[in-house]
Amino acid sequence: MNKLYSIFKNMPKCELHVHIEGATDAETFYKLAEKNNVTLPVNSLQEWKDFFDFSNFDHFIEVYIAAASTLLKPEDYTYLIEAFYKHQANENILYTEAFLSASFMVERFSNDEILNAIKKGMEIGEKKYQVEVQFIPDIARNFPETKGRVLNLVIEGFKKDIFIGLGLGGLENGFPPELFTETYKKAKKEGLRIVAHAGETDGAKSIWGALLKLNTERIGHGIRCLDDEKLVKYLADKQIPIEVSPGSNYCLSLVEPEENHPIRQMVDSGLLCTVNSDDPAMFSTSLTNEYLRLASQGFSFEELWQLNINAIKTSFLSPEAKHKYLKIFEEFKANNFE
Ligand SMILES: [Zn+2]
Repeated sequence: MNKLYSIFKNMPKCELHVHIEGATDAETFYKLAEKNNVTLPVNSLQEWKDFFDFSNFDHFIEVYIAAASTLLKPEDYTYLIEAFYKHQANENILYTEAFLSASFMVERFSNDEILNAIKKGMEIGEKKYQVEVQFIPDIARNFPETKGRVLNLVIEGFKKDIFIGLGLGGLENGFPPELFTETYKKAKKEGLRIVAHAGETDGAKSIWGALLKLNTERIGHGIRCLDDEKLVKYLADKQIPIEVSPGSNYCLSLVEPEENHPIRQMVDSGLLCTVNSDDPAMFSTSLTNEYLRLASQGFSFEELWQLNINAIKTSFLSPEAKHKYLKIFEEFKANNFE
């Protein structure tokens, strides 16, 4: 194993921006399709794996829809979540805050069905893989009509200790944060933690909206903040955490392949950044790979270590739990590098 790869693989990590559906590999979806008698647009597992490989944004949406079509029963989510714990444990990601595409779920299942399936997946995952995952269902902004039902599901799950917060994903352009102001207000009132994707495909305006209209506690992606000097200063002054996913941005052509990722400029501007894998299976990446990518673009080990520590510090864990993880992380560093 390459030395740098093994360092980042073995390093205990924390991840704050990853989607369960996008973290599920081609084979898992293929098995679900067989089990549920869903016809995929392919003739074999190999063809499905080739189809699953990222090529461009339109194709990504096609894959996402075909993959989601295999999730026909609530217990399929139990299976997906168990597989997710396995993946995170394999990557040495000790603590994760993960998104679930709730707009799809509420169309198909009752709250009880969803919550029971997820709870079961969490129980199996924790027991088998000994890593911790907390869940943040998100509203797909291009299905704004689902916002009320998603909020209702999230509040019920929050009361049962299954969810910790509410997120906002999906197509950013054409669906501004302002559409969700009331929903976010209610979520906050109930005590939910709140996050939103913003400044990924849309510009600084979308980030301002997420901050000022939704009162989001963290920004998902946020790379387009660099278009607006005033916004960069605001984010730096207030130390608003930003969940950066470099591989995803390259895949979706938001950053040109020959360019270094703008996270360099973000960190140099004093922004509080973390590194994430977003949809690792669909973008053929992993959190380890994301650290390696940044190392190859000139980030020092100390800088990358700090980004990893930032994730624990800006997570929604209690102060005691943060302290527990920071201790484990620092012990690893002391034993291996000092
Ligand atoms: Zn995302």
